[in-house]
Amino acid sequence: MPNPLSWIDDELQTLDAGGLRRHLSQRSSTQAATIEIDGRQLINFGANDYLGLAADVLNDVTRQAINEFGWGSGASPLVSGRGRKHAELEEALAEFEGTEAALLFSSGYAANVGAITAVAGKGDVIFSDAKNHASIIDSCRLSSARVQIYPHRDVDYLRMMLPQAGGFRRRLIVTDSLFSMDGDLAPLADLAALAEEFRCMLMVDEAHATGVFGETGRGVSEYWNVESGVHIRVGTLSKALGSIGGFVSGSQQLVDWIANRARTYIFSTAAPQAIAVAGLAALENVRSEPHRRIELLARAGELRQELHALGLDIGGSESQIIPIFLGDLTRTMLAVTTLGERGLFVPGIRPPSVPEGESLLRISLSYAHTPEMLGQLVDELERAVGNVQGT
Ligand SMILES: *Cc1c(COP(=O)(O)O)cnc(C)c1O
Repeated sequence: MPNPLSWIDDELQTLDAGGLRRHLSQRSSTQAATIEIDGRQLINFGANDYLGLAADVLNDVTRQAINEFGWGSGASPLVSGRGRKHAELEEALAEFEGTEAALLFSSGYAANVGAITAVAGKGDVIFSDAKNHASIIDSCRLSSARVQIYPHRDVDYLRMMLPQAGGFRRRLIVTDSLFSMDGDLAPLADLAALAEEFRCMLMVDEAHATGVFGETGRGVSEYWNVESGVHIRVGTLSKALGSIGGFVSGSQQLVDWIANRARTYIFSTAAPQAIAVAGLAALENVRSEPHRRIELLARAGELRQELHALGLDIGGSESQIIPIFLGDLTRTMLAVTTLGERGLFVPGIRPPSVPEGESLLRISLSYAHTPEMLGQLVDELERAVGNVQGT
């Protein structure tokens, strides 16, 4: 009998031929400024651990929490899975965000899917930035709402689209606040003004900005002082907060509704309470060690200037995420290999993560990087990308 999965071999061969096949790598060190990956020691520019919390800062409290609360949560939050520490973290997140309430999910992906499908459905319309994160794209598709994509950060275009939204039951504008590949910021003040004018809900995904941007680390909404115009805010514990998990924050009515409707909340087991304890410790770190985010963003600014001075195309990055746009897939993956041989891990981003012909190197800076590491990065990029350009 023919193997009903034999088509997969053909598909994988096509990926191979196009240089698009992903291979699972294996890290055998902690997730820190240097990592051992596939047997090689490399300086790590491929983690979203922006504040340097992932490897060790949260270990002790988490260990204690496991002893006190046990590991598994064993059920959905609504059944018996939500423990005292989950509740405490939700309260702390609401306080941190300056909102009435917050709701904890097991990942940022789940938070986006849960929130978007809870607030938008059949008969509604969603306006979504063309470069929004995949979890937002998937959420929009799942919601059954009409989805209107506007060009990246193009508020003029969005303004032209919005008048047609009047006939829909509910209207939602959704955007990343700090875009995960380009490192640029959404025009939140303009989006908030449009949301008000056209009576839309505004949802902002602060995944890469939580803990990094804003006076107290709440994100780009705080940085640009537009928090009152944002109705639904999503963040993760998985990036700057060094752990795993996601959350939605906003008004009490919003959170009550999402807890009643978000299928990724209702039909998924609560994360271990130790993770909530790690989240509490990370929030405390953001509060008590602001120098981490301040120095991170200062160094990111210097690095962007240096790379720009080398003639590298870093697009519109304004953050700790710095892309180097190389365009060509082969050129990009060759640069990744060369940098690896020189002791640096800088991931190449290629289709389907980005459109054809828009491949890039994605540098992710951390507070844990030393000035020497950044110096080495600049030197090796000059060599590697220069070399690639020469071929
Ligand atoms: C990473 C990311 C997510 C998903 O968060 P996880 O906690 O990793 O699931 C959601 N939105 C954006 C913009 C992201 O970059």
